[in-house]
Amino acid sequence: MDYISGLNDRQKEAVLHPEGPLLILAGAGSGKTRVLTHRIAYLIEERKIFPGNILAITFTNKAANEMKERVAELLGGDIGYIWMGTFHSICVRILRQDIDKIGYDRSFSIYDRDDQITLMKECIKEQNLNKDIYKERSILGNISSLKDAMISPDTYINQNYNDYYRRNVGELYALYQKKLKQNNALDFDDLIIKTLELFRADPMVLDYYQKKFKYIFVDEFQDTNKSQYELIRLLADKHKNLCVVGDDDQSIYKFRGADITNILNFEKDFPNTKIIKLEQNYRSTKNILNVANHVIKNNSERKDKSLWTDNEEGNLVVVETLPDSQEEAYFVANMIEKLMVEGYKPSDFAILYRTNAQSRTFEEVFIKRGIPYKIVGGLRFYDRKEIKDILAYLKLIQNPVDDISLKRIINVPKRGIGNATMGKIEQYANEVGESIYSVLQKLDDIPDLSTRAKNSIKGFVEIVNNLMRIKEQMSIKDFIEEVLKETNYIKELEKQDDIESRTRLENIREFISVAVDFEVKNPEGNLEDFLATVSLLSDVDKTEDLKNTATMLTVHSAKGLEFPVVFLVGMEEGLFPIFRALDNESELEEERRLCYVAITRAQKLLFITHAKIRTIYGNTSYSLPSRFIDEIPKNLITTTEESSNLGNNKRRLVNIVDRTKRRKNNTVKSQENKDKVQVGTKVNHKKWGIGTVVQIKNKDEDKELVIAFNEPIGLKRLLLSIAPIEIV
Ligand code: ATP
Ligand code: MG
Repeated sequence: MDYISGLNDRQKEAVLHPEGPLLILAGAGSGKTRVLTHRIAYLIEERKIFPGNILAITFTNKAANEMKERVAELLGGDIGYIWMGTFHSICVRILRQDIDKIGYDRSFSIYDRDDQITLMKECIKEQNLNKDIYKERSILGNISSLKDAMISPDTYINQNYNDYYRRNVGELYALYQKKLKQNNALDFDDLIIKTLELFRADPMVLDYYQKKFKYIFVDEFQDTNKSQYELIRLLADKHKNLCVVGDDDQSIYKFRGADITNILNFEKDFPNTKIIKLEQNYRSTKNILNVANHVIKNNSERKDKSLWTDNEEGNLVVVETLPDSQEEAYFVANMIEKLMVEGYKPSDFAILYRTNAQSRTFEEVFIKRGIPYKIVGGLRFYDRKEIKDILAYLKLIQNPVDDISLKRIINVPKRGIGNATMGKIEQYANEVGESIYSVLQKLDDIPDLSTRAKNSIKGFVEIVNNLMRIKEQMSIKDFIEEVLKETNYIKELEKQDDIESRTRLENIREFISVAVDFEVKNPEGNLEDFLATVSLLSDVDKTEDLKNTATMLTVHSAKGLEFPVVFLVGMEEGLFPIFRALDNESELEEERRLCYVAITRAQKLLFITHAKIRTIYGNTSYSLPSRFIDEIPKNLITTTEESSNLGNNKRRLVNIVDRTKRRKNNTVKSQENKDKVQVGTKVNHKKWGIGTVVQIKNKDEDKELVIAFNEPIGLKRLLLSIAPIEIV
């Protein structure tokens, strides 16, 4: 295969570069990553470099996966022995091999954000510090910066001995590290720091990797911090075949210590660096690129660049004002439905937001609308084990024939009911054609059960029967607490008393607040309604093809990616740019670079939205449109009203979609159509509009449906025979 056709001259030059350090500095969408992947393929195929001698580093898992796919495609197979991944994943690989040389066990755990917070809370408590002043998140932020800058707890304490607050931060840092070590755990920053420590402590290990990695590549080089830079500098020290690509306009991790001086140092640390600049953008339409250029040009700390494109003019960028964040989510969902009618597929869409907390509203609306989606970088709340466990208990109590739920929790916490026992019970239940829970009521009929097993099961059945009896007598919140208590679920976690169990306990508390929230919104709602709502939230996309889903992600994690259609949401002063940047010029410039990153992800269509009223962290306030919107010349933007001439009522966009769909269905008589209703079916109700069927129960001759409609209507119970609905 030819690795250089389809590249422009500058790109070719980079791919064919013979040996030695190479620095590619260029704007968004100019083909930096493409050059990098082509060069890797070229080295392997043409220059016969062994794949195991290549190391390629990117910033996010998603970017790493895309890079793997691109290289595999070029090589016509898989990427074999190439080491390709994020700084973190590369370091984990190295540490799993050799971390015992610096006193850790090789089976170390990696603590995620939640675990870190739990651990820091403990440290603050142990140090007897006021938790209103010492907030775990901000302390962790401090510690992370210190680690990036490679400053140890002792150094920091000594430097700040006379500053009471900082000295305490230093003490917390020391204690936090000690506890990590006791738990044989590393946090994300440690992964880099400990690898460096290992290289320093054991030159043989360093030597091995220096020899191994003859060619090293780093994408998004503008975002490397000090410790990461040190790591690649060390690794490349022998062969000096280091190729880094980056864009100073996209440097968005200054707050994490990313250091643009790394680019300057690079030329110093690696004399005779070849520098290549790329100027043609291949990703976006002229209009989108134009908007991006106009925004970034307001930064003063930048080298002026001229990025141009040969692509089509494209549509104007849409800027849309919505009354509140709910409406914003509906707007995006409506637009997506409309564009899908025009032929776009779910995976063409990305919703970019500034802060993770914004995703929840979009999740809820997408679920209601049946738009498949995934969230990049983060386990969804309802995917967590403890949440699934509680739900399984509740589902079983609500619905004793739910064997799946029963099997999930019959031995959680451990009650000595093993797989063999369960096997016998299940087999018997199958033979007699009853649910598992029902045969558990008559244990003596089940062959071959030991007395011990029988006793354990009796205990379990008693607990569940009891809970079934009392469920109507209390609020949902109280009932959930009762379940957690009676089943010993909480007690077991408390007994376990480690980071993991404490994190689980916090998630359970969060789940209880979901219940409280539900009760406030649905004073009439019972456990069944609650489960219907929650199951709807948790069950989505299980069966969906995860590849063909819309993507929700923060702007930070969108770096390096591209999507045909981008919704850049929550563009409001105080949100984007974020509040703390409002009175700080340098942070503001970082926010602007972030905005530039967001805009340049879009290939064909870009929608920018802002809401007039927004609730952030429980506070509702009026918000002004982001200054970045004001920086776009008016002739480059439009609104959906102008662009589709729909008049004032945005709801009409929905109507258009509905009408197209209805036309399709009108030929089918609604009554025969109705028999096809099943869980997940979307229906259109005369008064309430589009909803999704979330539950069906036989009721005498008829069926009772629970349908989730858009807020504020919510869940409704209807009898199938008389409900004025049709399938859409
Ligand atoms: P970012 O700064 O956002 O990381 P980038 O500089 O890494 O962007 P790429 O992702 O490599 O840019 O390329 C952007 C898009 O342009 C990709 O879809 C890529 O395949 C395409 N592209 C790059 N170079 C060319 C070329 N010479 N001809 C056609 N398409 C190209
Ligand atoms: Mg890139």
